[in-house]
Amino acid sequence: MNYTESAYAKLNLALDILGRRPDGYHDMRMVMQSIDLADQVTLSPRSEPGISVSTDLPYLPKGDGNIAAKAAARFFEATGLPCPGFDIDIFKQIPVCAGMAGGSSDGAAVLRILRRLYVPDMTEERLEEIGALVGSDVPYCVRGGTVLAEGRGERLSALPPLPPCWLVVCKPACSISTPELFAQVRVKKLRCHPDIPGMTAALEQGDLEGVARRLYNVFEDVLPRRYSQVFEVKSSLLELGAMAASMTGSGPSVFGIFREEDPAARAVDALLPLGVSAFLCRTAQPRP
Ligand code: ATP
Repeated sequence: MNYTESAYAKLNLALDILGRRPDGYHDMRMVMQSIDLADQVTLSPRSEPGISVSTDLPYLPKGDGNIAAKAAARFFEATGLPCPGFDIDIFKQIPVCAGMAGGSSDGAAVLRILRRLYVPDMTEERLEEIGALVGSDVPYCVRGGTVLAEGRGERLSALPPLPPCWLVVCKPACSISTPELFAQVRVKKLRCHPDIPGMTAALEQGDLEGVARRLYNVFEDVLPRRYSQVFEVKSSLLELGAMAASMTGSGPSVFGIFREEDPAARAVDALLPLGVSAFLCRTAQPRP
C-alpha cells in the first residue's frame, strides 16, 4: 500500500525581521499563504528497515540529507514508536532554493502521512511541534493555509483566507543565499516594515485590494545589486496587470496577485520567453 500527499508551496504575503536572538536565529513576523503548486510525496512501507528517499531531481539528497527523511526520523524519535522501513518518493514541482519552502513542505507531508498511519489522534499542535524539530518553516507547512507565523516561524495564528484570486509565481534563473541576505539585514538597518496589522484587518474584511496594497518583504530592501532580475520580473508582473507583486521568502521567486484568470494566464505566457519559470496558481489548504 502507498500513501501520497500533496506538499504545497508557500508564498510570503508579508515578511518582516524584528531582530536577532541570542540563539542566532532571527525573530520573524510573516503572513504565509499556501498555493496549489505542489510536490507529490509518496510513502511506501517495505520489509527492510531504514528510510530511503528518491526524487525526480538527481541532485537532491537521497538519504538522511533529505528533509523528508529527517522529518520521518524526528517523528519516530518524538513518538518513541519503532521506525519501520519505508521508501519515500518525491515528485518535485516546487522549484528548489526558490523561497517557496519546497523541502519543508515535503517534510511536512511526510509528517502528515505518518500521523495518519501511526498516531491518528495526534493533535495538530503536537505535529507542528515535531515539525519545528525539522526546520523553521515546517510547522507552517504542516498546517498550511493563510497564517501569521512569528518567532522562528513556529508560532502560528490562523488568519482568514486570502480572498479568491490568481497568483502568478515566477522563479528567475538566479539563486540567492539566505545566510547572505540575513547578513545584509545586519549591515543595513531596516527602515521600512510591512503593515501586518493592516494586512490582517484586510484579510478579516475579505479585502483583496487591501492585502495586495500591503505585500511587503524586507529582504527586497537589502537585496544586492547583482540580483536585479528579481526587480525586473517584479516590474514585468506589474506591467502585465498584477494588482501588486513581491518577492517570497529569501527569493528569488516573485509573485503577482491578479483578480481575474485571463490576465494572469496571459502574464505567464508573456513571462516564459524571458527565461524564467512561471506558474499560474490558486491558494490551497492541506487536508487535515
Ligand atoms: P525556504 O523557502 O524554506 O527558505 P527554499 O525554497 O529556499 O526554502 P528548498 O527548495 O526548500 O529551499 O531547499 C533548499 C535546500 O534543501 C537545497 O539545498 C536542497 O538540496 C535541500 N533539500 C533537502 N531535501 C529537499 C527536498 N525534499 N526538496 C528540496 N530541497 C531539499
